Amino acid sequence: DPFVEFRHVSLAYTDAQARAGEYAVEDISLAIGAGEFVAIVGPSGCGKSTFMKLTTGLKAATRGSVRVDGQPVTGPLKIAGMAFQAPNLLPWRTTLDNILLPLEIVQSYRSSFRARRAEYAERARRLLASVGLSGYEDKFPWELSGGMQQRASLCRALIHEPRMLMLDEPFGALDAFTREELWCALRDLWSAQRFNVVLVTHDLREAVFLADTVYVMSARPGRILSRREIGLPRP
Ligand code: ADP
Ligand code: ADP
Repeated sequence: DPFVEFRHVSLAYTDAQARAGEYAVEDISLAIGAGEFVAIVGPSGCGKSTFMKLTTGLKAATRGSVRVDGQPVTGPLKIAGMAFQAPNLLPWRTTLDNILLPLEIVQSYRSSFRARRAEYAERARRLLASVGLSGYEDKFPWELSGGMQQRASLCRALIHEPRMLMLDEPFGALDAFTREELWCALRDLWSAQRFNVVLVTHDLREAVFLADTVYVMSARPGRILSRREIGLPRP
């Protein structure tokens, strides 16, 4: 069974800025297998972020259905870890404490975070080591380069061992060298743990380097183009 399944999904925004009667994404049908690494490429504004919001339950479909792990998505999914173009680390927290933040928030309701902090810190250290950031645990975000902050945000997205990692242009702001280093770090993490990855990017080279499956979206309204439409032969 697919892990993520879109059936004829369309979404029209309804706020003041929305264009009346226009879908942001239209008639998207696809299935993503468990542990699969998928990339969605397309020009800016084509609906990539909207696709992400639909997959994680931050937005509800106007038409069609979204299912994850066999269940209809009805609200924000806790099984997803997310990272975005900006690392968004909290400046008054160390790298380690930034990475632990999602666990701290979720677990403080059960007040078990403090009891398990040492175990979680060890998990965070392993993640930091896997992206080449050993020794930076106690540094503050402003002591790290942009690429290092982005590595830390990747660790934060993975700290609660999500089954699904959602990446929205996470390498967009990095220089070419740092970007390729991070690609490799991500590939290694993914090969070791086989969580699901959905990466949205406008960088086709990045998509092809990282993903098992690449979907191409058209501009306005965002549709997934068929192989024929992008000039590929049948599989
Ligand atoms: P990015 O992820 O590329 O930094 P966003 O996802 O915030 O940017 O926005 C992508 C596109 O959606 C942009 O063209 C932006 O103007 C538009 N957009 C974002 N939020 C809104 C909104 N609330 N109303 C209308 N358009 C929006
Ligand atoms: P991408 O991530 O590919 O840049 P988005 O999913 O952010 O594209 O946006 C797709 C379309 O939906 C764009 O035309 C954008 O302007 C519009 N849009 C995005 N967010 C909103 C919003 N909150 N309200 C109205 N329109 C939006």
